[in-house]
Amino acid sequence: MRAVMKTHAGPGLELKVVDIPRIQPGHALVKVDAASICGTDVHIFKWDQWSAGRITPPIIIGHEFSGHVVEVAGDVTRVKAGDYVTSESHVICNECLMCRTDQKHVCAQVTILGVDINGCFAEYALVPADNLWLVDPVLSPETACLLEPIGNAVHTALSGDVTGESTAVFGCGPIGLFSVGVLKAAGARAIFAIDPNEKRLSIAARMGATHLINPRHEDPVETLRSLSGGYGVDVVLEMSGHPEAIRQCFRALRNGGRAAMLGIPPGPLEIDLGNDVVMKGIRIEGITGRRMFSTWYKTSALLGSGLLDVTPVITHRFKFEEFEQGFQAILSQEAAKVVLLP
Ligand code: NAD
Ligand code: ZN
Repeated sequence: MRAVMKTHAGPGLELKVVDIPRIQPGHALVKVDAASICGTDVHIFKWDQWSAGRITPPIIIGHEFSGHVVEVAGDVTRVKAGDYVTSESHVICNECLMCRTDQKHVCAQVTILGVDINGCFAEYALVPADNLWLVDPVLSPETACLLEPIGNAVHTALSGDVTGESTAVFGCGPIGLFSVGVLKAAGARAIFAIDPNEKRLSIAARMGATHLINPRHEDPVETLRSLSGGYGVDVVLEMSGHPEAIRQCFRALRNGGRAAMLGIPPGPLEIDLGNDVVMKGIRIEGITGRRMFSTWYKTSALLGSGLLDVTPVITHRFKFEEFEQGFQAILSQEAAKVVLLP
């Protein structure tokens, strides 16, 4: 089978022909219909400090995909050949304190498809059957491969009440854009989308943003406060990881408001904890991954019912052979979500 691989420690990826994985206990072999490129894959492509410390080549990368089960191990009953599936990318231990107390999304021993073990940028992927999610047949393969990152957005946006609230999304990358759609579906009163990239802001408008703010042209804190009765917004979702946006999101929040933090900053950063957090009485929640599997039920319901349509976020489609063009489209900031089709 063809597979997009990191073959050596260094920048770049290669398309190789390798053996189809042999079935293993507890696993299912899935024929991949569509896969999508995540920011994590871009880090691995570039071979930045994080990936150099984490990835052991050779490895097939990629963790967002949809496909059809072709074979299951003898001990697997959850799925069968022919099932239309996508997958949770976090492989959990089911043994640690968190796994045993309904917090599987923060498992202490998590491994990740396409990061720690072979992933899905290939014609076939071998996946623990417990990770597979049966896809609603109304969803296209290219929407189905996005359930995992949409799940990040659902987990963040719905980590508290948003119905009737004024909300702000800092950072309109793919996950921020999905979040705008989730906030709209959940009935947020106002959805402010903040991003320096005009293309992404225009997609945010199509996803349901009520106001677009480009921090290059205006101060998001001033604008958000002035459009929220001088108080600031009820809820912020931080989805950029940019240190300045992180500081701004706390200042743009009203007293007693709520901040859900998904973006990962490049390193430690300074915030005015006393004035912007403690004295304002705000609530901050760090968000990682997706709740297993309550987030998946919600995500599926939003997509299957038509309440959420993510097609505006898919800007580029490439064949596996053209994967480099897909990575370049993201690096040049032309693309939002890039789908690879085997
Ligand atoms: P992305 O890099 O495509 O999106 C980030 C967006 O932030 C870009 O559109 C960029 O233009 C924008 N931005 C940059 N500076 C800004 C500023 N000052 N104000 C507002 N916006 C600004 O990333 P993504 O794939 O959508 O992921 C979003 C973030 O979430 C990243 O930091 C990523 O590392 C992180 N992430 C976290 C998890 C998790 O489980 N916590 C999972 C996936 C991704
Ligand atoms: Zn665990």
